[in-house]
Amino acid sequence: RGDPAIRVPDAADIAAWWPQPGPTSDKYSRGVVGVATGSGRYPGAAVLSVAGALAGPTGLIRFAGSAHAEVVRAHPSVIAVPRVADAGRVQAWACGSGLGTGDDARTELRSVLASAVPVLLDADALTLLVDGQHATDLRRDAPLVITPHDGEFARLAGEAPGADRIGAACKLAAWINGVVLLKGDRTIVATPAGEVWVNPTGSPALATAGSGDVLAGLLGSLLAAGLAPERAAVAAAYVHGLAGRRAALDGPVTAPDVAAALRPVLADLLA
Ligand code: AMP
Ligand code: MG
Repeated sequence: RGDPAIRVPDAADIAAWWPQPGPTSDKYSRGVVGVATGSGRYPGAAVLSVAGALAGPTGLIRFAGSAHAEVVRAHPSVIAVPRVADAGRVQAWACGSGLGTGDDARTELRSVLASAVPVLLDADALTLLVDGQHATDLRRDAPLVITPHDGEFARLAGEAPGADRIGAACKLAAWINGVVLLKGDRTIVATPAGEVWVNPTGSPALATAGSGDVLAGLLGSLLAAGLAPERAAVAAAYVHGLAGRRAALDGPVTAPDVAAALRPVLADLLA
């Protein structure tokens, strides 16, 4: 096939796609997102990914992970349990940020992949796929989205993205039969069919620990609200980038600042 058409989303695209509650919506009809992130070692990843999800369109967040107490302390509206298997019904899972790579993490990842709903995999979930049966694990009917940075991409694909980042992202998307969001200063979203989006809103302010965890939660929420995986990935990257820019107006940015900036950014975007 020839070179893919490269698309760049604008604010009007994102506003048109962003799921919004109708007059008779309830918390369930807005979508329930499951978040399986963090670990005893990285409880902050759990708190940050949930912060990202809270800014998304879903009406309810179910969290599963060992950092459940920290999550509820930080975010009282979340229903949090230790294990994915006990979390209850969700319409999508966001899994992997700070999850760890031990046996418990693997069990949780398996539970997530065994579900029949769209799944977003980030960070340690991607690492876990490499030394386990990824070919079997990834053969699922529901949509899959992955959000690797370059290191995670290299582990998964067996080689670094290289100079042709778009080609590399497309190749991996075809191989996993899922949407690949390849992080960078210009984040790329590639689909198995070879569609490509390049995000125009990046900000170096996002180059800070935990920033990707916020993105994962936001993207999971969009999936759970029913947005198509490709649009969910493009919209999450777009809004996340704007949040980095907005947070940077107040000085040096940390990941909680990015999460806090999502709401005002969305208020402007959806106004
Ligand atoms: P992570 O490495 O998982 O924490 O994710 C980092 C996030 O920050 C991703 O969304 C990247 O696209 C974004 N990011 C990192 N560095 C830059 C940069 N120089 N310009 C724009 N976005 C960046
Ligand atoms: Mg990360």
